[in-house]
Amino acid sequence: MARIKAQALSTVYPNGVRAVDALDLEIADGEFFALLGPSGCGKTTLLRTLAGLEQASEGTVAIGEKDMTAVEPGRRKVAMVFQDYALFPHMTVAENIAYPLKVRRQPKATQREVAERTANSLSLAGLLDRRPGQLSGGQQQRVALARAVAIDADVLLLDEPLSNLDARLRLEARTFLKRLQREIGITTVFVTHDQAEALALADRIAVMESGRIRQLGSPREVFGRP
Ligand code: ADP
Ligand code: ADP
Repeated sequence: MARIKAQALSTVYPNGVRAVDALDLEIADGEFFALLGPSGCGKTTLLRTLAGLEQASEGTVAIGEKDMTAVEPGRRKVAMVFQDYALFPHMTVAENIAYPLKVRRQPKATQREVAERTANSLSLAGLLDRRPGQLSGGQQQRVALARAVAIDADVLLLDEPLSNLDARLRLEARTFLKRLQREIGITTVFVTHDQAEALALADRIAVMESGRIRQLGSPREVFGRP
């Protein structure tokens, strides 16, 4: 668990698009934080910059007390779940969950043990030897979450994790995410363009526009209701 602090942060793409523009943001330890705003306002770019997948052009990102610009992306204790879950189709569920541990050269027995433990806590027990193609959308999403949780990350970044699920599964996934976040107390940043989702999940909400934060506060402050 760790706080996230961005100061005067800008991310400019090679084509000159200033997707994040001199942005200041502080997210508290253990907070469930939603980034809301119209398509193209810079939500994904901000998330990717926090994860180190895009390089900041100006400004700083700190996670905990550490300046992230000095830390390689693979060494940041940051887990990101992508919109399409980005699972490896040829690997089993267990291998997908344990993949970050494999990259970090953990022993095979540890990989299996962590995969089993994480799968249990995400209601995936019994599915460990299947491949992603044999799972429902909701199950695939939970595998992506399990992979994120398996590395014991300080920060969880979610890019529209519910957008590929149908209405019923989305509701189930919301409950699931909220429970997971409460249980492990991980600092979570959640990108969505869905107000209702932000309202249901977030402790605080930032509304972005043109690479900046236009509004910031509790759901009540931002929407005028709890
Ligand atoms: P959002 O997630 O809010 O939809 P994005 O962060 O994806 O917004 O995009 C912010 C802006 O940056 C948009 O104008 C988009 O076209 C542009 N953009 C996103 N990715 C790239 C890229 N790889 N190269 C150039 N411009 C990009
Ligand atoms: P989202 O709105 O969910 O961020 P988009 O559909 O805008 O996603 O973008 C999908 C992909 O296209 C992303 O990888 C993004 O980086 C890239 N992209 C978006 N806008 C541009 C752009 N103007 N130039 C180049 N790549 C872009």
